[in-house]
Amino acid sequence: AGVLLTLGFKDVRLKDNAVSARSSAATIDKDIPEGIEACIGGTPLFKIKSLSDATGCEILAKAEFLNGAGNSPKDRVALNIIRTAEEEGLLTPNSGDVIYEGTVGSTGISLAALCRAKGYLAHICMPDDQATEKSDLLLKLGAEVERVRPAPIVDQNQFVNKARNRAAEHTENPSRPGRGIFADQFENEANWQAHFEGTGPEILEQTGGFLDAFVAGAGTGGTISGVALFLKPRLPNLKVVLADPQGSGLFNRIKYGVMFDPKEREGTRRRHQVDTIVEGIGINRVTHNFEAGRELIDDAIRVTDEQAMAMARWLVEKDGIFIGSSSAVNCVATTKVARQLGPGHRVVTILCDSGTRHLSKFWSHAGHIGDATDTTLDQVLNA
Ligand code: PMP
Repeated sequence: AGVLLTLGFKDVRLKDNAVSARSSAATIDKDIPEGIEACIGGTPLFKIKSLSDATGCEILAKAEFLNGAGNSPKDRVALNIIRTAEEEGLLTPNSGDVIYEGTVGSTGISLAALCRAKGYLAHICMPDDQATEKSDLLLKLGAEVERVRPAPIVDQNQFVNKARNRAAEHTENPSRPGRGIFADQFENEANWQAHFEGTGPEILEQTGGFLDAFVAGAGTGGTISGVALFLKPRLPNLKVVLADPQGSGLFNRIKYGVMFDPKEREGTRRRHQVDTIVEGIGINRVTHNFEAGRELIDDAIRVTDEQAMAMARWLVEKDGIFIGSSSAVNCVATTKVARQLGPGHRVVTILCDSGTRHLSKFWSHAGHIGDATDTTLDQVLNA
């Protein structure tokens, strides 16, 4: 039994289950896809054992950090934005076209990698309070990086406005080759559509349609909207819950219909004014991508930095899962939803990126396992 592989120096007999149909000799040549795009999508869904045992629910995580270009769900988005722009005739490979984007990091990293693969240049504007791993990585990928002071959206130096303006300056400059394209992940609907076409269908298939709730944070809102727009019509009883970090207005938008609940105004940190250790999610305006699915979001849970750090340590200690800050926020809210639903239910969330991208910021605050006393799930959820 098993497949005999003849290598140059020795024969190796593989177990039957080690070789998939895809790699059998008959299909090997025609089925091997080309390029880094082949590593995007089709991410595993797995059960987080410790949280499932502790809640009596199945807590399932979609391992989006395994997308293989920029290692986050933004690979799906960046690829769809580029493909859509190409279809519209807005981009021509190897012609000097530059893709400009305002990003806290993940989308920039995905765009930078895909630009290299496809013959474009990436110019990334990002706030200078994000983890340095991300800007370092962008430079290694050959992107132009402009770090700007965090500012409100009405300020022309705010990172999204800066990127839009840079794209316009490029196109208007007759001495510069190529065109400047603004990727515009916050408003560009190719963003939620990537999740409608990829993440949502994959979750449906991987769960066989058996799931009670989907929980995710929102930066642009593309993930939660795209997944909700795909799943809700097919699973009408599905609960969609927003996981929102402290300082974000989206919690209030879902709970009370306004971004700033008058009762909470004073206690609400504005993300551009106050350092926060959670990166990638939480925002104080409603973007097109959030608005696209907003009415399908049933509830919101606010998560503190302390809870996110305690959850991140818990997942390393119990499961060996090393995640970034937005994934930790997702896991806190997911566990709370599981407790609300009661044992026997199934909740799906997203693990967006790895902790390696957050060593200098989130994880330098979160410390090490064993540093803290949050050894019970109650202590984590009430941190
Ligand atoms: N996690 C991380 C690390 C991110 O960078 C982002 C996007 N900024 C998100 C989560 C949120 O995803 P979305 O933009 O689809 O709402």
